[in-house]
Amino acid sequence: MVKKVYGVIGDPIEHSLSPVMHNAAFEALGLDAIYLAFRVAEHELGDAIRGAKSLGIAGLNVTIPLKEKALAFVDADDVATRIGAINTIDFTSGTPTGYNTDGIGALTVLKERVGEIRGKEVLILGAGGAARAIAFYLDAEGARLTIANRTEDRAAMLASSLHNADFISLREEELKRHIRDADILINTTPVGMYPRADATLVNAGMMHSELVVFDIVYNPAETKLLREAKKAGVQTIIEGVKMLVYQGAASFRIWTGMEPPVEVMESAVREALSLS
Ligand code: NAP
Repeated sequence: MVKKVYGVIGDPIEHSLSPVMHNAAFEALGLDAIYLAFRVAEHELGDAIRGAKSLGIAGLNVTIPLKEKALAFVDADDVATRIGAINTIDFTSGTPTGYNTDGIGALTVLKERVGEIRGKEVLILGAGGAARAIAFYLDAEGARLTIANRTEDRAAMLASSLHNADFISLREEELKRHIRDADILINTTPVGMYPRADATLVNAGMMHSELVVFDIVYNPAETKLLREAKKAGVQTIIEGVKMLVYQGAASFRIWTGMEPPVEVMESAVREALSLS
């Protein structure tokens, strides 16, 4: 039997934690498979996906900045098509098939920590690819969403494509007013991400202790936003590492049809983060 090859494509790709996470899962389940990182420039994306298929690669993750462009080279499922981006390609059915597991990753963590999402007031910071994926899932669950983005047009566009959503700017006063009535705050911007880890769009003075604060940034695991949430007495704080693991777990299920060892995957990610 030939070893199965999986991987992640993106640019830059050096810091991706997906190889560590998936290789730990393969090892734990005794699968003869390997997961590698491939740096792929945007203008070579089509060749890379066609080449991966020809080489018999079993599956790929797709990351920044290729998630939207990759849609053109695969048959995407309905959810990924609506989101307008993919993060997973499965080659096992012959035609490259595209999926987006970011939204289900975030929804799984939220349900685990918060329970019922229906009727919850959710404020999402950002309107990029990850925000879109998360917003579509929460909207489908019956949450009431407000999108706050630096480029307001983008926030307006995302809000208008949802059932029950509005948009605001990132101005402090406006954020403060909305956070007062919010149940859940989700940061989907890269603000606070390594190496500019001392940044946050929301500080302790703007939060209340009943708020659930979820930062999808996972490097560092505890971002400045989450430290500010602690200062504000927030009880439910959710780290981006969990979403990373659950979106990876969803890709793993698509590729292998097997139940992924999520605890092993999370430990591998946390260990890699503590070493970086
Ligand atoms: P993206 O498509 O480039 O979107 C970035 C968003 O952040 C945009 O709305 C952008 O606003 C906003 N933004 C960027 N810099 C900002 C700044 N300095 N101040 C205010 N807003 C800013 O990126 P993405 O793919 O959604 O990823 C966003 C972050 O999520 C990254 O840090 C990524 O690592 C993380 N992520 C985590 C997971 C996970 O599993 N935990 C999964 C996916 C992504 P404009 O529209 O104004 O440009």
